[in-house]
Amino acid sequence: MAKQQSRYKAKNQQKEEFRENAKLNNKESPATEQKLCKVYVCFVAGLFYLYIDCDINMTNIKNRKYEKMIQRLSLVFMVAAGGVIGSLPLLNGRDADAKAVRAENDLLKTTFSQDISQVCNVSTKERPWQYIVIHHSASVKGNATRFDTYHRKNRGWEHGLAYHFVIGNGTLSGDGEIEVGDRWKEQIHGAHTANMDCNKVGIGICLVGDFENGGIPTGNQFDTLVRLTRYLSRKFDIPLSNIILHSQVHQKGTACPGKNFPVDEFKTSLIQIASTEISPGRKS
Ligand SMILES: [Zn+2]
Repeated sequence: MAKQQSRYKAKNQQKEEFRENAKLNNKESPATEQKLCKVYVCFVAGLFYLYIDCDINMTNIKNRKYEKMIQRLSLVFMVAAGGVIGSLPLLNGRDADAKAVRAENDLLKTTFSQDISQVCNVSTKERPWQYIVIHHSASVKGNATRFDTYHRKNRGWEHGLAYHFVIGNGTLSGDGEIEVGDRWKEQIHGAHTANMDCNKVGIGICLVGDFENGGIPTGNQFDTLVRLTRYLSRKFDIPLSNIILHSQVHQKGTACPGKNFPVDEFKTSLIQIASTEISPGRKS
């Protein structure tokens, strides 16, 4: 347990670094380029001084052809330096845009190397989803196939697996792996809460694990959950207030996804990940 928690902390540290890098990548004027800009300004100021000053000084020199030459050279350098300074912000802007797009694409990759936009892609018309409901499986082990069998045989549900997505914990599927249920592929209602109205508009995401009786999500699971939730909420314009825990649906009373589910960190991570996105209109 202690080992698992320290792994979780290390993972969170990695996530912090990732966020910091993403923020750095989004900076429009890196320090080195600002320094370069200052050097150019000093250089141009020097030339300008030379240009003005040489009129006064050169009158004392017999050969006035140097005066004209220095004035012309100063002028040429001033124009060239002005052009370079003028184009720096443009170059920086383009560079920052490219870096930000790369950082944003990275956010669509899970630690299990799945591309979330591809995972969520369906060939049928998407439902107008309004909620995202988070669950745990209340079992130490599991995967989508096992839950599907249980829901078909024990619950008698025709469509099987109650959830739209299952995120593995490394027991019977990958640690942080997203498994897509048929209900998502076919864009049909879930069966993950006792409230049918909620099931019709709520995307059900289940994390394998028992977070009520001592367990916590693995770092990879948590990371994938944040990225998948952010992707879906952005795609379907689902506000943060509509990203809820199963226990918040309230019908029948359930502890799901368990008291150890780090709900505050989950919400904070969603806000942080959203703040690293620089193109709000860009949906995949
Ligand atoms: Zn649940």
